[in-house]
Amino acid sequence: MDPRDEMLEQRIAGLERRIAYLERIVKVSQILNSTLSLEPLLGIIIQSATELTHTEACSIMLLDKRTGELRFAHTIGERSEGLRNVTVPLDNSIAGWIVRKRKPLLIRDAKSDPRWHSQVDKTIDFDTRSILGVPLKVKDEVIGVMELLNKLDDHGFSQDDIQIASTLAAQAAIAIENARLLDELQRAYDDLAELDRLKSDFVSVASHELRTPLAVILGYASFLREEVSGEAGEQLSIVLQSAMRLRSIIDDMVNLRHVDTGESQLQRDIFSMKELISEVTNEFVQLAKAKQQTVTLDLPDDPLNIDADRQKIYLVLANILSNAVKFTPGAGRVQVSAYRKGEEIWIAVMDTGVGIPERDYQRIFDRFYQVEPSLTRRYEGMGLGLSIAKSMVELHEGRIWVDSVVGKGSRFTVVLPISPFKETPVAKLASTP
Ligand code: ADP
Repeated sequence: MDPRDEMLEQRIAGLERRIAYLERIVKVSQILNSTLSLEPLLGIIIQSATELTHTEACSIMLLDKRTGELRFAHTIGERSEGLRNVTVPLDNSIAGWIVRKRKPLLIRDAKSDPRWHSQVDKTIDFDTRSILGVPLKVKDEVIGVMELLNKLDDHGFSQDDIQIASTLAAQAAIAIENARLLDELQRAYDDLAELDRLKSDFVSVASHELRTPLAVILGYASFLREEVSGEAGEQLSIVLQSAMRLRSIIDDMVNLRHVDTGESQLQRDIFSMKELISEVTNEFVQLAKAKQQTVTLDLPDDPLNIDADRQKIYLVLANILSNAVKFTPGAGRVQVSAYRKGEEIWIAVMDTGVGIPERDYQRIFDRFYQVEPSLTRRYEGMGLGLSIAKSMVELHEGRIWVDSVVGKGSRFTVVLPISPFKETPVAKLASTP
């Protein structure tokens, strides 16, 4: 053959090999992006490595940080299954050298190399001749080694082989790291779920255990308050007030539990929202007066009738109003308004209080979340009121949100459907002209 043709053919063959290599790399990358299961991915990576470098076997060893040894994580090649429980020390081993020096190593005659660890060959009755090993790196840390064994052609390992092995080792390292992170995330989720369960159990037991003695305290304190006058009477009023506050905290805990266990079902009734708003607002007027706050009501003539669970809507409004009074300084203003908009009732509670930063607009509706950390906070509370309010509103298929300017005030908006959403009966639709 004309030497020029021969050269051309060789170049074409070289290019074909490169294309095959690139195709494999792209395929591995695609799989890497689409799966998080480590085993099949490592399988594809080491199979690609043996095929592209034309070698007899391939293995991935991972560093066990506790024992400081390398462990076979994935292998390919005859009899390699037997390696699952075999470990390789970092001292006096080729893989150990690669981990410590953090660079690839190419050995044409393994048996004559003093670092060669013959134990592995003995275990699976294998005959190692040549080795190409590359480190598996995650960021700056070496987590293991990929080794290709016994080049099957006469030329021995080439620079191309080192490049192929290094690229595939990088992909294997990413896959291993992804799997580790996923594992960590899963464990964190499990821990959180367990904590949540413990918290719910605690809330459940505590609220149950506290209710009975508190009922006794409230009963006796009310009775004595009627009987006693003067300074002792005033002191009893304080006892009574504190006991009532305690009861409202326990009620919050119980309500939350009911939401959690799905016991919180709606007892619908048609009632006037206007009346309910006036009733709840009146309950807070005394408290607001004590802080020299003005409370105003802005309600339409319409009674704003609604088909909903009155007690639960009461809770929603009471929680929002109690916050408005609590987080508004002396001489501030609280305004409650409501109106009908289409098939919904819109209720707004505005205050001129401390306000809420935008980053907390969602989080204040989470359980136990308070803008100020509980230990340093100036206001009483457990951070449960708004999460209860949100659950109750959502049970009604309604919406609740806040708009606020820090230092100026907040506006909580509650939107409730006037009647529960019902499918239009088919018969009715059919008879509509
Ligand atoms: P609590 O009032 O018991 O702390 P909530 O769930 O009712 O719990 O409210 C959560 C947090 O949202 C409050 O701790 C407070 O930081 C913030 N917040 C609620 N309402 C207001 C308001 N009207 N003005 C300012 N901050 C508020």
